[in-house]
Amino acid sequence: MAISRRKFLKFSAGGAAALGVNLFDNPMMKKAFAAAIQETPVIWVAAGACSGCSVSLLNALSPRIQDVLLDQVLPGHHIELAFHPTVMAASGDLAMKAMYDTEEKPFILVVEGSVMTADGGRMCEVGESHGHGIPATEHIKRLGGKAKAVLAVGSCASYGGVPAASENPSGSIGVTEFFKKEGITTPTINLPGCAIQPDWFISTVAAILLGGPESVKVDADGRPEMIYKKLIHDNCPLRGHFDAGRFAEKFGDPYCLYKLGCKGPVAHANCPEKRFNSGTNWCIDNGHPCNGCTEPDYPFDQTMWGTVPIQNATPPAAYPPIFTDNKKSIDVTPGYAALAGIAAGVVGAKVLKKSDDSEDRQGEE
Ligand code: SF4
Ligand code: SF4
Repeated sequence: MAISRRKFLKFSAGGAAALGVNLFDNPMMKKAFAAAIQETPVIWVAAGACSGCSVSLLNALSPRIQDVLLDQVLPGHHIELAFHPTVMAASGDLAMKAMYDTEEKPFILVVEGSVMTADGGRMCEVGESHGHGIPATEHIKRLGGKAKAVLAVGSCASYGGVPAASENPSGSIGVTEFFKKEGITTPTINLPGCAIQPDWFISTVAAILLGGPESVKVDADGRPEMIYKKLIHDNCPLRGHFDAGRFAEKFGDPYCLYKLGCKGPVAHANCPEKRFNSGTNWCIDNGHPCNGCTEPDYPFDQTMWGTVPIQNATPPAAYPPIFTDNKKSIDVTPGYAALAGIAAGVVGAKVLKKSDDSEDRQGEE
């Protein structure tokens, strides 16, 4: 079977990566890969956004954003940030020309910020035509239909986020909801977070370049499972305090932040492992409750400091009672109701452990 040069290089890169070998240490291989590089342009549209996600991405340190843009995201794949209103050198007609030229090739569309639909989209305009602003909705609709994949970056682009909070005079919605209304079926991946962790963007782009948007397994809310599968609560360094019933009553207390409004029990993301600012810190280690910024309900109907019912936390299945200041217990179902079943739970845990062990053994075999 004949194999193309590009395919050969791709397989070689994959094999080398699996073995932990850096092909780019070898000048000959570097040259060979450079010749086979596939360019993928990216058009980044900033709609109802504060630019926080752009800032977060530009602060990436490992890899640095310069490396992502100048070098290869993966061996043989380079992304070209063809249009980004915040960082591109061009402005005015020249900038818009860059967008229009790029959309004639296969490209990835990134949307940052909510899609503001009120008043015909006039609350958010990008560029001009014949002296009139062009609604961002017009660009997102046109580009969304043409793109080979769409990334909704941040909570606002994913689900409406802060601009869609109650009252919502701008008619802000997320990209997926907008596409649904407009009948656009381009694969769209949500990367919620306020702001996103840069690795979430880079790893998703890498996965798209490698296997196409369909290769990225997403959950029911359109988020890549590789990033958003786990609950913050299940990986939180303060989880021991939660399980022992030790709760912070005021900011600065070194205990679980649940009673101060922590949404970790319902928020999905790998923040505890990835952290922010290149691993320097993250919300909870900074003494602040998780806001649940990766969830479709964010920023939630209640106050930011209100508690959320705990539904799917694992393990243990039971928690001590939690009392608020007015001494009423908080619903922590299914946990507290399961106290009576602790003994059964312990037996169950042992059975589970046993079956895990046997699965591990089978795996090793
Ligand atoms: S409620 Fe919040 S602070 Fe407490 S253990 Fe869960 S995630 Fe951590
Ligand atoms: S810890 Fe919570 S609020 Fe903070 S970034 Fe992660 S999901 Fe958002």
